[in-house]
Amino acid sequence: MKIFPSRTELCLVPLRDMVIFPNMVVPFFVGRKKSIRAVQEAMGKGKLLFLATQKHNNEEEPGEEDIYPIGTVARILQMLKLPDGTIRLLVEGNERANIVRYLESGSYFKVQVRTIEESRNIAADVSALTRTVTKEFNRYNALYKKIPKEILSGIEKVDSPHKLVNMISSNIPIKVEKKIELLSQVDIRQRLENLATTLAMETQVLEIQQSISSKVRKKIQKTQKEYFLQEQLKEIHKELGSDKDDPTGVKDLETKLKGKNLPDDIYQKCEKELKRLARMQPISPESAVLRTYLEWIVDLPWTESTQEIRDIEYARKILDEDHYDLKKVKERVLDFIAVRLLNRDHTKGPILCFVGPPGTGKTSLGKSVARALGRNFVRISLGGVRDEAEIRGHRKTYVGALPGKILQSMRKAGSRNPVFLLDEVDKMSSDFRGDPASALLEVLDPEQNSTFMDHYLEVQYDLSHVMFITTANSVHNIPYPLRDRMEIIHIPGYSDFEKLQIAQVFLIPKQIEENGLSWATIRFQEAAILKIIQNYTMESGVRNLERQIATVLRKIARQAVKKGLPAEMPTADEVPTEETQAAAAPPAEQAISTAEVPAAEAEQSQEREAAASQDANTEGEEMRAPESQEPAPSEKSPEKAAKPFRITVTPKRISEYLGNESYQEKMLDPKAKPGLVYGLAWTELGGRLLPVEVALLEGKGELILTGSLGEVMKESAQTALSFLRANADSLKIKPDFSKDRDIHIHVPEGSIPKDGPSAGITLAAAVLSALRGKAVKKGFAMTGEITLTGRLLPIGGIKEKVLAAHRNRMSDVLLPEMNRKDIEELPREVRTTMSFHLAENIQDALLILFPKK
Ligand code: ADP
Repeated sequence: MKIFPSRTELCLVPLRDMVIFPNMVVPFFVGRKKSIRAVQEAMGKGKLLFLATQKHNNEEEPGEEDIYPIGTVARILQMLKLPDGTIRLLVEGNERANIVRYLESGSYFKVQVRTIEESRNIAADVSALTRTVTKEFNRYNALYKKIPKEILSGIEKVDSPHKLVNMISSNIPIKVEKKIELLSQVDIRQRLENLATTLAMETQVLEIQQSISSKVRKKIQKTQKEYFLQEQLKEIHKELGSDKDDPTGVKDLETKLKGKNLPDDIYQKCEKELKRLARMQPISPESAVLRTYLEWIVDLPWTESTQEIRDIEYARKILDEDHYDLKKVKERVLDFIAVRLLNRDHTKGPILCFVGPPGTGKTSLGKSVARALGRNFVRISLGGVRDEAEIRGHRKTYVGALPGKILQSMRKAGSRNPVFLLDEVDKMSSDFRGDPASALLEVLDPEQNSTFMDHYLEVQYDLSHVMFITTANSVHNIPYPLRDRMEIIHIPGYSDFEKLQIAQVFLIPKQIEENGLSWATIRFQEAAILKIIQNYTMESGVRNLERQIATVLRKIARQAVKKGLPAEMPTADEVPTEETQAAAAPPAEQAISTAEVPAAEAEQSQEREAAASQDANTEGEEMRAPESQEPAPSEKSPEKAAKPFRITVTPKRISEYLGNESYQEKMLDPKAKPGLVYGLAWTELGGRLLPVEVALLEGKGELILTGSLGEVMKESAQTALSFLRANADSLKIKPDFSKDRDIHIHVPEGSIPKDGPSAGITLAAAVLSALRGKAVKKGFAMTGEITLTGRLLPIGGIKEKVLAAHRNRMSDVLLPEMNRKDIEELPREVRTTMSFHLAENIQDALLILFPKK
């Protein structure tokens, strides 16, 4: 709507940094003298003003050329003079106008303006553009969010496109130059297009801005979070008392490393790693890995060692104290120790290897050697070790990497000169995938082990001060290069008598102590121990025997506890000193003796018990009140209240405690039968009785072998058969005995590995026995390799085999003549209770087995 004549004269107020559009109501301050005068002038002339923007914001006194030639004719709605002389104006923009010329620019500006005609024609493209602008504006506003609600609703209601442009342009924060452009454009299409583009651009800028600021915010949040957590962690460390200045533990590690007296090169490496650790975040995984590594170095014994006892007599005493008999073994151990003691440069000695069935004291001998030498003792089992890394560790780049078993044990040992027992070296190589044997060779070889390299540690470790002892069940399975460096000491197993001695002197006292019964008087009758040995264990060693003794003692302990014993026993702290004990002097009967009663004393007590109980059948336990003639115990004696607990373990008790007998000569047929002959086998678990059975069947001369026999044993069977056929005449059998008969040889007892040549003579005897229909002499067991020409060759493992025969109550053993020397090595009671028959060839052997009547 046209309000003013197209040309009119108006006072001008130059605006700084703002553009006023028509249809807008805007407040602003007027402070410059020229402008105040213009306002005052305008107030007198219908309150109309021309508002145009100056080009440079900071121009205090703009000239005509400093003011844009476009502006808005505005009406003053309100004028307020402020005390400082400035004026607050509220104006409403009415129409756009161009300055035609300046009429006055001295004391104030007065200009002649020409208003811009705004077309009312709304074509379709204009309304399309209008919609675009509205849409762009909505998008913009969705991001900008700072336009007041009343203005938004005003914009929504706008009916003319020019008005729309004016309202939006004046309310969005765009550059003054842009606003001037939008103000000055006459064509509505141009204006709308310009605004739409501006809005789109601004929206885009806002979007980018927002995404940047959200990223920045996130980053800030993350750093803030980390900072916050770090601070929290510091506080936690403080609370826990850990060094707040040393969250990575570098200082602590450094002091420890300095105190370690490490070899120079290793110390230098550690120093480097410490520096790296100090630069790391204390909570990062890398720093944890590095810290663990350095802790390993700190924990390993580099220079620490125990003072070695260099006294061979003392060593002998210790070995005797811990082990029964084993004279030869102990001698060899002592020789070995002597050489090691003399030879300060330990580099050349071989490594001891104890070979024998389980439970024969190999491990405990190792422990005794350590005790005898005043060294620490560590043990690892190599059974089932397949991988080199188990010996040598994984590189520390692997997750959860650790040093190998060797260095782990060295850390446990705490000194660099322990006795190191490598158990079951023969079990390692049997199923290896890597090559643990070669890694072990480096460990054991005195030429190499001073520079042992663990993958994890990455530095050399000196193992040359360690005394290595190895154990194995069988020599054959030890990898050859290892065996080559070992001094093999056989511990073949024990006879019943030896086991009895071991049980009486070592196992029973040890188990009484371990089962908390040292306060009671417990006596095992010999017959009871033998019953356990013969009927409850069938082994070469004494491990099961010890286990069964422990079972018996547990039952006894239960009995004692059931009876409320030893309720009145003093606790450890209350045990009187020697003086008070002497003063109290309880009578011998009254005192609770430990299990380690000297033999004579035990005998006496046995006799006393026998006297006390006339009834020979009174078995086992005695729970006697102190006899009346015994002096009353002293009031002060802590033992006074303790009732004596005496128990004699008899064979009958054994059955009660241990239940059914596990081994009852199941291998042995009480009757001698044709075709049934007993051989002797060597196994890793000791000697075993090996029955061989032969049956003759109608057939075509086939040899049937059953019982999972190994190749060598099958060949032995063939050899036996051929020998019999070749010597049929002298053996008084039909030469064509196999013509219409099959010969079936069966070797029962699946659990025994059956291979090797030593069953030759047994097979020949069994077939002959079947052919003749005549049993071999009763009580005979035999072993020996045969050849086609009839020789009887010597075999190994005699002690184990004969002990097995002895265990199985065989009375006679047939051996090759060449094994004569082995008989001397047998325990005396075996030599004296069994008969040994030596044969040079098969003929002689068969004569012994089938004596001529
Ligand atoms: P291995 O290592 O040969 O399998 P251990 O050394 O573990 O057997 O021995 C088993 C148990 O038998 C141990 O308690 C050990 O003290 C005991 N033992 C074995 N032989 C004897 C012996 N000659 N004298 C005393 N105790 C023995």
